[in-house]
Amino acid sequence: MNINKVRVRFAPSPTGGLHLGGVRTVLFNYLFAKHHNGDFILRIEDTDQTRFVEGAEDYIYQCLEWCGLQPDESPKHGGPFAPYKQSERKAIYKQYAEQLIAQGNAYYAFETPAELEQIRSDEKINNFQYNIWTRVNQKMKNSIVLGEEKTKELINNGTPYVIRAKMPDWKDLEKTIPDYREKLVETGENPFKKTVTDLVRGTLELDYANVDDKVLLKADGMPTYHLAVVVDDYLMKISHAFRGEEWLPSLPLHVFLWDNLFGLENMPQWAHLPLILKPDGNGKLSKRDGDRLGFPVFAMDWTDPKTNEKTIGFKERGFLPEAFINMLAMMGWNDGTDKEIFSLEELVTAFSMERVHKAGAKFDYEKAKWFNHEWIKKTTDYRLLTIVKPILEDAGINIDDDKKLVTIIGLVKDRCTFLADFIQQSVFFFKQPENIDVAAIKPKWNEQKNLFFAELIRAYELTQFWKHDELEKEFKEIAAVNEIKAGELMLPFRIMLVGGKFGPHVFNIAEVLGKQETLSRIKYCLKLL
Ligand code: GLU
Repeated sequence: MNINKVRVRFAPSPTGGLHLGGVRTVLFNYLFAKHHNGDFILRIEDTDQTRFVEGAEDYIYQCLEWCGLQPDESPKHGGPFAPYKQSERKAIYKQYAEQLIAQGNAYYAFETPAELEQIRSDEKINNFQYNIWTRVNQKMKNSIVLGEEKTKELINNGTPYVIRAKMPDWKDLEKTIPDYREKLVETGENPFKKTVTDLVRGTLELDYANVDDKVLLKADGMPTYHLAVVVDDYLMKISHAFRGEEWLPSLPLHVFLWDNLFGLENMPQWAHLPLILKPDGNGKLSKRDGDRLGFPVFAMDWTDPKTNEKTIGFKERGFLPEAFINMLAMMGWNDGTDKEIFSLEELVTAFSMERVHKAGAKFDYEKAKWFNHEWIKKTTDYRLLTIVKPILEDAGINIDDDKKLVTIIGLVKDRCTFLADFIQQSVFFFKQPENIDVAAIKPKWNEQKNLFFAELIRAYELTQFWKHDELEKEFKEIAAVNEIKAGELMLPFRIMLVGGKFGPHVFNIAEVLGKQETLSRIKYCLKLL
């Protein structure tokens, strides 16, 4: 194919929460496009009106925005190939379905769904398929059996019809390749087989003979996914089509359509991405696995508008988008070294489709948490401020000093795996702790320690430089004079300031709390002891 520009697409059907496998498909498309200075297109594939879900399209935009994977063209952003929503392109598809009919690659079928149901039960076949064998049965109501005149008559009468792909049979081949039998004997080439190259899976041999005659255009005039995806990939000049491996069974039909509509030489390069598997490796990771094992599977919270059932997302569970993206990239790809932490820019530079593995990647929630922890540590305190501040405010913590919060974030971020951990790790900086774990101090409390803290109060009251190193120095000096090990005083001091046995270095805490608040907390606690 003569490609001027790399153009890739993510083509979701907006039917509900965005699974992390879907986000990884977005990511690999995005990385590939940006690596090659190409375009990343979002196309909404909503031709199945029966599956319409309120709010699902907006939700996709929100997820992509949160992940920082913004499309260059989309229904929302517009672009030179608009419209990007298939339901708004309805008029385009019919002509291609008719072109296929004219070429003998498709046919009209007039059975209603009820009649197909009847055939299923008459034939006692559960999964009756319209295919090269059944389409010629005289009982069938299609243009192959009925002939041209009768077909025209039915169409003119307004009889509802669908258009089906006419997968090639031997007779068709005889028409197009008169000497195919000799060829087959001579070269061993099976004309039903096509080979295509998949950037992840290598050479794929596709067999048309196993494919049924799928509907291309429905009775309501809407195309099915199969026709629409091929037509739009062509019209939108898609150079590479990357999608989940669950679409592999549809590939022979898509190649058949490309072959007969636009020519194989114009077909995009395919890559079918491996599945994300359950933690035990047994099958595809589903939303239900997440519910069962207590981890998110969707990118963001999703509420099903019909049932009102809410499913938690990575965002709301407290993941940074950088961590989520990094984790997804490492599921099925690596740069050939041990490096695991990548920013989006680094991924763009390092990414290549050739390094995507063929085998499915097991989802490991502990590893996902590790990525988040690493990213919280790595993210600048100023960026964290914009994310953490609303979380603290939602938890009822009043933040009146952003600079103070930035300092606190810097002090506690090493201790946070989820963003919500910032609440517990920083609330005591803003509010006097409600519960003070005096029980943890009491057993080893004595008069000598009491005197120490009384003296510490007096000394701290006079301290000019309220800085952690200065505070630590004074604390240790007083301890030495009183002949108490400073280590034994540290825990009581921490509990006085924090309420419990956690938090960063205690003198840093005192510094941020300020003189007045530190002294008041010590005094308050001494009364409890
Ligand atoms: N509409 C399909 C989906 O929902 C797109 C598959 C493809 O990329 O070809 O996943």
